[in-house]
Amino acid sequence: MKVRAQISVLFHLDKCIGCHTCSVACKNIWTDRKGAEYMWWNNVETKPGTGYPVRWEDQETYRGGWEHKNGKLRLRLHGRPKGLVNLFYNPALPKLKDYYEPFTFRYRNLFTAPASGQQPAAEPVSAITGKPIRIESGPNWDDDLSGSGVFAKNDPVLESLPGELRDQMLELENVVMRYLPRICNHCLNPACVAACPSGAIYKREEDGVVLVNEEKCRGWRMCVSACPYKKVYYNWSTGKSEKCILCFPRLETGQAPACAHSCVGRIRYVGVLLYDADRIPSAAAVEDTGLVDAQLNMILDPRDENVVSAARENGVPEGWIESARHSPVYRFVKEWRLALPLHPEYRTLAMMFYVPPLSPVMNSVARGKVELNLPEAQSGLKAFQEVDDMRLPVRYLARLFSAGDEARITEILKKMFAVRMYKREQSVTGRVGAEVQEAVRRSGLSPGDVEEIYRLTSLADFEQRFVLPPYPREQDASTWADPLSRKGGVGFTAVREILGGE
Ligand code: SF4
Ligand code: SF4
Repeated sequence: MKVRAQISVLFHLDKCIGCHTCSVACKNIWTDRKGAEYMWWNNVETKPGTGYPVRWEDQETYRGGWEHKNGKLRLRLHGRPKGLVNLFYNPALPKLKDYYEPFTFRYRNLFTAPASGQQPAAEPVSAITGKPIRIESGPNWDDDLSGSGVFAKNDPVLESLPGELRDQMLELENVVMRYLPRICNHCLNPACVAACPSGAIYKREEDGVVLVNEEKCRGWRMCVSACPYKKVYYNWSTGKSEKCILCFPRLETGQAPACAHSCVGRIRYVGVLLYDADRIPSAAAVEDTGLVDAQLNMILDPRDENVVSAARENGVPEGWIESARHSPVYRFVKEWRLALPLHPEYRTLAMMFYVPPLSPVMNSVARGKVELNLPEAQSGLKAFQEVDDMRLPVRYLARLFSAGDEARITEILKKMFAVRMYKREQSVTGRVGAEVQEAVRRSGLSPGDVEEIYRLTSLADFEQRFVLPPYPREQDASTWADPLSRKGGVGFTAVREILGGE
């Protein structure tokens, strides 16, 4: 057992209000400079929708992530030999129109425009050429579906649903809409690392943060294609690739990443997860249906004595083990099994986790959607019983978070239903009736779990949401050695094993 520690972020999607404060906080700190204007290391998109860059989930076009064929795991983009041949030709890149031409406004027009019968306007100009442009797209152009079904219609995830369901979902009044905040997933099996011909991307051993070494990067942009989440960006000014750094300078000084710190909906939780790095190659190479289980099984119990002693042997600092014991991410992901990684079928073993949203399901119930024939639609209990039959949006959520495993989504939604019913009855009537207690039991939770889920979801303060480990900088490899010389640690080791003889 090779125990490693990973800083992980959990997103509770029911709480996201789509305010984009996280994106703006990140941009102001990291990407407010030339060549990085169009980079949104943190972005929030509306689902169903086309996302940013447009249709990033369409891996037929972008060839991101890994594929599992004939018992072997290989990059969808290409193997190593083909990668070298294709070094100067990579057609699987998003184009400028898939992002947007970065723009600014000529504010001086407001002061220098000649006298006229009309108000002066700040004219939009391209941030690249400085010439006036007509703005036709942007990073959240389809925010709230922009009042149109056009964006939802082009969602690649919807394409995998049967036609009848898709049509139901797209009926204008019934359209299900939710926000999906995204950052780099700091994956355990990162396709960006495996695809880089210069060996410029690496995963830090101490905390699992995936970084680009700007000195080694030669701008081949294989990482941009290989990342299935499109979370590496090319800086057109410096000719280097850049990506989310999980605010590691903030982490090292005991502060949460800026996106999490500033989150208005308080949807983000940050904590340490311990995992067994020896299991990375096998966990990434199981059938789709087993991917989530394989990944969750890699995450270790920080209270288990065997795990603790293996962690000590592997050099995980004591403070990190202690921090892992209080990690809110561990509680949601492993203890309560309420959270899942985004698109596990990409096989990068994404280490950011999401609690799927219950709200659109509740709305479906309230509106008596075709998929759920509930005359007494207001009854939480009735709805609870019918979760199994809800094909929509359960099937859609399964495409996002469980490689199509609907039972996994239903299990989570039932737990969340149960918590809502329990707390509602308790606060409205002062007692919890036998029926609701039975529903809680059937969801697999205990009343104690319900209270703790409720507290961590609704009432948690800063210290409970962000349990940050102490960084022992004096023990950190980068202070006494070139971090790249330690590439043989986690991430690279696994990737090398996986690529095998290629
Ligand atoms: Fe690399 Fe994963 Fe981040 Fe993409 S999401 S840049 S594959 S670590
Ligand atoms: Fe959602 Fe929080 Fe970002 Fe607002 S700041 S969009 S609530 S993740």
